[in-house]
Amino acid sequence: MIDLRSDTVSQPTDAMRQAMARAEVGDDVLGDDPTVRRLEEASAERIGKEAALYVPSGTMANLLALLVTCGRGDEAVVGSESHILHHEAVGASALGGISLRSVANDDRGRIDPDEVASVVRAPAAAPRTVLVCLENTQNRCGGAAIPLDSMRGAAEVARGAGAAVHLDGARIFNAALALETDAATIAGLADTVSFCFSKGLGAPVGSVLTGPREVIDRARVLRRQLGGGMRQAGVIAAAALHALEHHVERLSEDHERAARLADGLASLPGGAIDIDAPDTNIVFFEIDDALDGVEFRERLAAEGVLCSGTGPQRVRMVTHLGVDDAGVEGAVAAARRVVESMRAA
Ligand SMILES: *Cc1c(COP(=O)(O)O)cnc(C)c1O
Repeated sequence: MIDLRSDTVSQPTDAMRQAMARAEVGDDVLGDDPTVRRLEEASAERIGKEAALYVPSGTMANLLALLVTCGRGDEAVVGSESHILHHEAVGASALGGISLRSVANDDRGRIDPDEVASVVRAPAAAPRTVLVCLENTQNRCGGAAIPLDSMRGAAEVARGAGAAVHLDGARIFNAALALETDAATIAGLADTVSFCFSKGLGAPVGSVLTGPREVIDRARVLRRQLGGGMRQAGVIAAAALHALEHHVERLSEDHERAARLADGLASLPGGAIDIDAPDTNIVFFEIDDALDGVEFRERLAAEGVLCSGTGPQRVRMVTHLGVDDAGVEGAVAAARRVVESMRAA
């Protein structure tokens, strides 16, 4: 199987499993798991923030950022294609009474600062706009790396209106690589930043929320309320620490393979696939309307290549540490066979 559905499907490596087996652990709810503490310190340092909190998922990290900043009836501005809006079961609204107001992500995932200015409300208004959430890389917009200038523009408008800025940096290291900067520089544009160990970094579980110590201390209490306090979590934190130490540099391999995958798919006969060069490890493309996109995916799966999609004709493939060069070649060859057989039918 060549599993391109997401970078979340990667399996822990042998070295990672060994790090997990050796992990020194304690009861993290009591604050004495040394591996979790090391992970939180290393994460905060890497991202250039005072403190970090290890949580079970990126969804919980984003939810905590929203809950810690917004009260019930407050408003948070999010991108129209954001993960927070589409893939987190609107926990912020359901659990926190927070109103989510969306601003357009353009097809490159960017948010126009003027649009942010047009939706943020004056400090005395009801509801108050207390948070603006950005996302980098922007998942649904093709894993786009959002340039620093674009982020800065939106962040400045937010601050000018008295709102804080949260960055959903699930794949911040992919963004840093594509933008030729470091994660801390991107993170410096936001007050709180979340990122995932379970995506391209290849750990089995976990994310962090990073930010000022006082904010993270309050988020720790909220994590407890949500049932996210974990006991000997060092076992999984060890995998995340291993990922942070050994799997950041190798993300360039995923980007190169995504570029090669896109090239290969673009060269299929008859313009079957309309595709842009990916910025990072996520490849999105449109299947020509003459071909049934759902059938394309089913046939590809029967050939041993798994992918996902956000619409019948819109397909997503993601490279990760479980996909090697042969996997990329195999996926392109399988797509070619499927397209040729569908055209012949
Ligand atoms: C994956 C992802 C998250 C968090 O997802 P979990 O599955 O809850 O860990 C958040 N934001 C973006 C952009 C993501 O891609």
